[in-house]
Amino acid sequence: MSALSRRDLLAALSGLTVFGVGAADAWANAPAPKSVRKPAPLPRPKLVFLDPGHGGKDPGAQGVRGTQEKAVVMAIARELQKELLAGGRYRVLLSRNTDNFVALRERVARAQTVKADLFLSLHADAHPDPDVRGASVYTLSEQATDREAAALAARENRADAVVAGMRLADKPDNVAAALVAMAQRGTVNDSRRLADTIVQTLSRNGVRLLPRTHRQAGFAVLTSPDIPAALVELGYLSNPQDEKLLTVRQHQIALARALRGSVDAHFAAAAATRKA
Ligand SMILES: [Zn+2]
Repeated sequence: MSALSRRDLLAALSGLTVFGVGAADAWANAPAPKSVRKPAPLPRPKLVFLDPGHGGKDPGAQGVRGTQEKAVVMAIARELQKELLAGGRYRVLLSRNTDNFVALRERVARAQTVKADLFLSLHADAHPDPDVRGASVYTLSEQATDREAAALAARENRADAVVAGMRLADKPDNVAAALVAMAQRGTVNDSRRLADTIVQTLSRNGVRLLPRTHRQAGFAVLTSPDIPAALVELGYLSNPQDEKLLTVRQHQIALARALRGSVDAHFAAAAATRKA
């Protein structure tokens, strides 16, 4: 189920639990007769939220030749932004627009505030073994997902939390827990499909990948309960070849094009599921 239709479903379910919202509103909102119905509005362009990792006082991984992760991921995020905007099908926002520090939870909060349809975090890795190279894609692990759901449903974290368009503060404990679990389960599945799509697209575009490329971890930036999210490690700055490639503009553009292909494929698959 897509994030959008899940939101609608959850909104409908929550409506059922509220007194006074029912038959009367349903009648009021009934569609107008066919003869005067306006043409269906064009679909809203999807909002892709790009998250270039690190920034400011946090340089991220450091390359053997001194390349800083925060700089290369920003360059690639900018290329990807250009690629996505060029087709006219997306709106794009970045979690940071300059070399500044933004806390991890703040990045997630910003994506939620603007109701992003997709969250893509961009990083470059480092490893003690300089021979390790290639890209990898992460989604939130099962354990971290359960932990986040429990934390979000807990009363003290509920004050400002909005899941699937509903304020958790207004909901009884069991309803809040059920809403979070439901939203999160669907989102985790969407995120995994997204990650697999990215792996396939990168591979098709000749990007070198780590073995067992789609991995799961407890990254804080992947914890939004209702936005499909993946974190891409674009290569290893600890590997001299990867470091060089990540700084070459041609390669940055190639990565951005492959990622744009992933985003296209993700939304095409979501639309096909909705129609089926
Ligand atoms: Zn990083």
